Amino acid sequence: MLGCIIGDIAGSTCEFDEFKSKEFPLFFEGSDYTDDTIMTLAVASALIKGREVPQRPLRELMVEEMRRLGRKYPYPMGAYGARFSGWLRRDDPAPYYSCGNGSAMRAAPCGFMAVTLPEAIALARVSAEVTHDHPEGIKGAEATAACVFLARSGYTREDIRDFVRENYYPLDKTLDEIRPGYGFRDTCQETVPQAIQAFLESESFEDAIRNGISLGGDADTLTCITGGIAEAYYVRGRGCDVPWMGPVRFAKRTDGTREDPRLALLPEGVLEQVRALLPEDLTNIADRFAEAAAGREGAYDRIGMVRPYILD
Ligand SMILES: [Mg+2]
Repeated sequence: MLGCIIGDIAGSTCEFDEFKSKEFPLFFEGSDYTDDTIMTLAVASALIKGREVPQRPLRELMVEEMRRLGRKYPYPMGAYGARFSGWLRRDDPAPYYSCGNGSAMRAAPCGFMAVTLPEAIALARVSAEVTHDHPEGIKGAEATAACVFLARSGYTREDIRDFVRENYYPLDKTLDEIRPGYGFRDTCQETVPQAIQAFLESESFEDAIRNGISLGGDADTLTCITGGIAEAYYVRGRGCDVPWMGPVRFAKRTDGTREDPRLALLPEGVLEQVRALLPEDLTNIADRFAEAAAGREGAYDRIGMVRPYILD
């Protein structure tokens, strides 16, 4: 899940700038984590709690953790969307039919924690519906979590592209075709397909992040989504020993290929900078989540089934 956070921090200084190049230092002076990181960790925290307190419905835990961390960190860089800010403060946490890209930006942990594709999609749906119950809001979260799940399970780029095309978005434009007419967009349907395309055309984890930012859109959110998928693909999905994300599952690609583990490497110092920027309670969630997801996956490998989440 650190891939999402790296994407968020790298995009944080370009969110409203419509920056259109791949040449830039990954972290600028002033780069910081934003709402995307906080809400991704809120979803992760809800998923951890759903393991620890299995009688609690996940939907309740999602609301609780988003509101807990949102209220604890009320003024992140770039701020929350106006309607989400209102939802954080209101007594009654009813969903508000949003199709904003906030549902997709926080969905990656669902793809990392799930042990099957249908579960990844079901978890993402719940994580979205508590606020973004518009069909496009749900679709953005589902597509993101599905890509993460497929990427970390050894599926190829072509598999992932085909699955997205059949179920979610046409993905009919290359990055070069998207870039000229694109700018800040805050809906799922104008962010998630572009974020997936940034991964599909990447040559490494870092290249995926650079692709995402080079589109000149809602850079932190778009690249947070790309970063989660790229992490799943380059770090978790290949069975290579690149220990920046905790335990790695052994998985061969469906076409039998393995890629060079160097494609998952980060520029020197990036991981240390991420840890230095995040408050301790947030890094703790990231660390605990990596352990919980690996443990659940390990149990699934051994016995072929694990206790499902109670969703409602
Ligand atoms: Mg943000």
